[in-house]
Amino acid sequence: MKKVSVVIPMYYEEQVAETCYKKVKEVLENLREEYEYEIIFINDGSKDKTFAILENIAKENERVKIISFSRNFGHQAAVTAGLKYVTGDAIVIIDADLQDPPELIPDMLKYWEQGYEVIYGKRKKRDGESAFKLLTAKVFYNTLNALSDVDIPKDTGDFRLVDRKVIDVINSLPEHNKFLRGLFSWVGFNQYAYEYERKERFAGKTKYPLKKMLKLASDGIISFSTKPLKIVGGLGILSIVISILILIYSLLSFIFKWNNITPGWTSSMVVMTFLGGMILVSLWMIGEYIARIYDECKGRPQYIISKTINIEE
Ligand code: UDP
Ligand code: MG
Repeated sequence: MKKVSVVIPMYYEEQVAETCYKKVKEVLENLREEYEYEIIFINDGSKDKTFAILENIAKENERVKIISFSRNFGHQAAVTAGLKYVTGDAIVIIDADLQDPPELIPDMLKYWEQGYEVIYGKRKKRDGESAFKLLTAKVFYNTLNALSDVDIPKDTGDFRLVDRKVIDVINSLPEHNKFLRGLFSWVGFNQYAYEYERKERFAGKTKYPLKKMLKLASDGIISFSTKPLKIVGGLGILSIVISILILIYSLLSFIFKWNNITPGWTSSMVVMTFLGGMILVSLWMIGEYIARIYDECKGRPQYIISKTINIEE
């Protein structure tokens, strides 16, 4: 029998953990005629009751597996860890807060049976999200696509159903800072955009404050593009051209006594600040890439597991 694995990251989700499990379980139990299942919860270093709740669930249902991190390593790390331990043929990644309805899994499985290898959720409508979140999400996807070398589908989060083959490829990639949305698009395969309506968070607050969103955005851009470096190069050339023009202009005005550049202070200040800014921006950009190289060289893991339940190593 084929098996469906569901990967659910949790960070301070004591308010939703139980309901999330019930909903997902109900959907999967209804599929038991055709598919075996497992649910993998990743406790991403929450210090509230999340782990205790999950532990109880795992006691009564051995199909529930738990990975608990030694501290908070972030959403992407949590999902990446889950993917390492899945044993199913079709793998579903879903948020804990039921914003992405688990009821859609059976329908997504139909597309999988038709031969699609990645069925990714594309948000048609986003209920109950602030104008600020919608705007930042829009800016995020637009910048990412303008800057990156692969086409990352708009309005797509991590909610998706993926074939085992694709997961094996993702797991075999050596990079540490995995930006999954980008990677799933980068690997190719037969992809299907599954449109759905994103619901309101069932309970609790978003675990993606602005700081985490910015980190995700910069991870996405830096790990999928070297364009920022090229833009910096282009700006550098532009500023050199401008400074040459200014030089020619001041020479001419000196020779022909146009007399309009009085003390020369303004122009030199403009050039200096402009170049100074350019240099700092370039250094920052290059620094970002070097930081990445440094990170990868250290070879530190993306996460540390402190405890697992129902998982044999
Ligand atoms: N999450 C996580 N680690 C984090 C932040 C979030 O595992 O550091 C999980 C969170 O528990 C949820 C999912 O990632 O299951 C998406 O987070 P959230 O719903 O807060 O994000 P939003 O839907 O607001 O973008
Ligand atoms: Mg959410």
